[in-house]
Amino acid sequence: MSSTREGQHPTPLATGTSLNAIVIGAGFAGLYMLYRLRKLGLSARVFEAGSGIGGTWFWNRYPGARCDIPSMEYSYQFDQQLEQEWEWSERYATQPEILDYINHVANRFNLRPDIELNTRIQAAHFDETQSRWKLGTADGREFSARYCIMATGCLSSANLPAIPGIDRFAGESYHTGRWPHEGVDFSGKRVAVIGTGSSAIQSIPLIADQASELYVFQRTPNYSVPAHNRPLGDEEQASFKANYRALRELGFKEHPFGFAHRMRQDLCSEATAEQRQQRYQEYWERGGLQFLGAYADLMLDKDANASAAEFLRQKIASQVDDPEVAAALTPRQVVGSKRLCVDTRYFATYNRPHVHLVDLKAAPIAQITEDGLIAGETVYQFDAIVYATGFDAMTGALARIDIRGRQGQKLADKWAAGPRTYLGLASAGFPNLFFITGPGSPSVLTNMLPSIEQHVNWISDCIAHLQESGKTRIEADETAQETWVEHVNEVANATLFPVANSWYLGANIPGKPRVFMPYIGFPSYVEKCHQVVANGYEGFSLS
Ligand code: NAP
Repeated sequence: MSSTREGQHPTPLATGTSLNAIVIGAGFAGLYMLYRLRKLGLSARVFEAGSGIGGTWFWNRYPGARCDIPSMEYSYQFDQQLEQEWEWSERYATQPEILDYINHVANRFNLRPDIELNTRIQAAHFDETQSRWKLGTADGREFSARYCIMATGCLSSANLPAIPGIDRFAGESYHTGRWPHEGVDFSGKRVAVIGTGSSAIQSIPLIADQASELYVFQRTPNYSVPAHNRPLGDEEQASFKANYRALRELGFKEHPFGFAHRMRQDLCSEATAEQRQQRYQEYWERGGLQFLGAYADLMLDKDANASAAEFLRQKIASQVDDPEVAAALTPRQVVGSKRLCVDTRYFATYNRPHVHLVDLKAAPIAQITEDGLIAGETVYQFDAIVYATGFDAMTGALARIDIRGRQGQKLADKWAAGPRTYLGLASAGFPNLFFITGPGSPSVLTNMLPSIEQHVNWISDCIAHLQESGKTRIEADETAQETWVEHVNEVANATLFPVANSWYLGANIPGKPRVFMPYIGFPSYVEKCHQVVANGYEGFSLS
């Protein structure tokens, strides 16, 4: 199904306008937040820096960009008709198809008239006397709103590494997270890709199809499981739709990462070597991220994890012809401690004669030059460089806004040693400011769509409660927040997630404090959010 870009976005809001709520970001989170605010009868506007809606799916248009969550699950569940009418064409949807879906949602619920594009919010200051947020745009306008809601995304602030000479390159430069809308033709060109995370792993096989020479600069190899992507059959789709309620419920109530299936309960530590091999092979053939669910203890028990890692390492060896290249592509870290990748033809791409792997561990990039780069002693020349170097995850988009709470306290200062939130939803000292899928919430360790909806539902119920009870302020208590931050760390430290230098910890950004940011365990988190409300917004002060 496709959807044209119908509907009008509004003309710029006049400076000085007061609203009930302002939402920053028009991705999945911002759109649904607007929908809910409207249902409450509140005046609201979404501000979006991009020239179109879609958030991460608007910006990440690199070749091969697609979701690594099955498309039947990567969709909204708040409207059953929407759920039934939309048809996905493949097991894993492409970026254009997801963007079509988002545009369809915006049209279907007539959301565009309250979404202002091409507008970057650069400041948000809390006015204590009025209990209102004052927001400033990059073009010098100012607005105020009772509630300010950050729908700024977890993976939206592109990370361009500070490599000496980066501005000197005279050829074409691209970042996977800021891909040109008109697309890029690499035919006949010598291309460099820097990075081997999910974005690189998806794009490298397709860039290799066009480029005359492709050099991949790898700092850390990653594990990857085949997507086994395929068209979605009508019957499969119909059966999923017929069971949507029960399947979605599994995500909320049972699966630790919010997926629509039951997590296995059996333990790798209790299985024989032969049983493990069979199990891993079964999950390899299924494909996708669910590989990590082959046993319940893969992210809890080092030995269990090591057996899964070894299976994946063998698979790399079996796909790559040159044993030296295979060895260089072989990760050593705990599998899952950096996000597991999902690929189509990734490792086999290194068997092509024009594709070259450069191991940066042996020879780091010294500088970018006018026509290429120097790594170790070797000089490389290219026509184009693709930075597949990821994001300043979870806090990067917030850090770009000058956010100040009570007594002028800057969020950046408060979070200097790492983000501090209560439930990932709010931070003490910043009343009436909400984060959708903020640090300290399950967010990136879940299917993002149910996580977004759960947060938006919680925030809109909270605002409704404030309106009904005649209150104008809600603020997280410092103690509740600190207890939560401690709990997030405790839960993470009982698993193997924090053991690598991952973006979950901020370790990919030089100077960023190392704090494990997502909360592990979606059902327990959902339950905690319910309890907080049932106990009269426990841990928050309402006034
Ligand atoms: P990423 O996982 O952070 O990968 C960035 C890559 O760039 C890493 O290999 C990193 O190496 C390398 N790098 C960074 N700075 C470098 C430098 N100065 N020199 C050399 N190499 C450098 O970023 P991503 O691939 O964009 O993915 C980020 C996340 O977005 C994923 O983990 C996933 O959650 C999401 N995503 C999902 C999909 C999907 O749905 N299929 C697709 C793309 C992205 P190190 O590992 O050594 O730091």
